[in-house]
Amino acid sequence: MRTSKTTNRRNSWILISVFSLITLTSFYGRAAGGTSPTGIITERLSVRQMEIWRTIEQKALAQNAAGQPLYPTLQELFSWAKMTSFPIYIEMPEARDLWDCAAGTFLFEKPQAPAQSQPTAVTILLRVAVIDRAAGERTAGEHGFVPFEGLKGVDRYCEALAHELTHARQSVTDLEFLQLADRRKSLNDESVRFQLLRRTAETRQSATRGLQAIADELRLLTERIEGPARVVEQQVWRELRARRDKDC
Ligand SMILES: [Zn+2]
Repeated sequence: MRTSKTTNRRNSWILISVFSLITLTSFYGRAAGGTSPTGIITERLSVRQMEIWRTIEQKALAQNAAGQPLYPTLQELFSWAKMTSFPIYIEMPEARDLWDCAAGTFLFEKPQAPAQSQPTAVTILLRVAVIDRAAGERTAGEHGFVPFEGLKGVDRYCEALAHELTHARQSVTDLEFLQLADRRKSLNDESVRFQLLRRTAETRQSATRGLQAIADELRLLTERIEGPARVVEQQVWRELRARRDKDC
């Protein structure tokens, strides 16, 4: 997921090339000793990051006095993630630079058997500093969903996590998901190549046409990949927001 304000700063071609925040990983994460871990794995978090993670977990699994979940969509997703047959690694990396503005990133390890459609491992990167400083405010003329609007701290982390966990679930429920994500990555690579060609007068026109075709296909792919994650994220945001308004 991206923060809405930061994307506005970039021109559309750059936006296309950096939008792919779902990508393949090199092979890592398999446990030594033969047994593969499953469910949510937090072993890559530092002691300080584990404290943040515990507050996220507490929130996700919070119940009222009658034992009902306070945030049903979040709890259901979190509980699913804990039971997956493949590992979901959680990491909280620092932002690499000022342009590193992705609040969350979803990485998947592709299955080695071609017939297998679900990933062998997933890694979710939560950049808490980016999430903290995301504007989360509606600006004049902004009518769509604004991530993190009216939320603070752990509520924001939960919203970002819900978005990325939805991608993890898509990778299991949508048999074409890995293929689509692959295609999106290769289109992004291709767009970088065309951007370089645009710098030369002789290839500028054909590169511009190529970029336009890529932009059109990327738009469709992005909608297919991001649409379900946005729907769940928005529902989790509503649940968090409703509770927060009630507590205030
Ligand atoms: Zn996403």
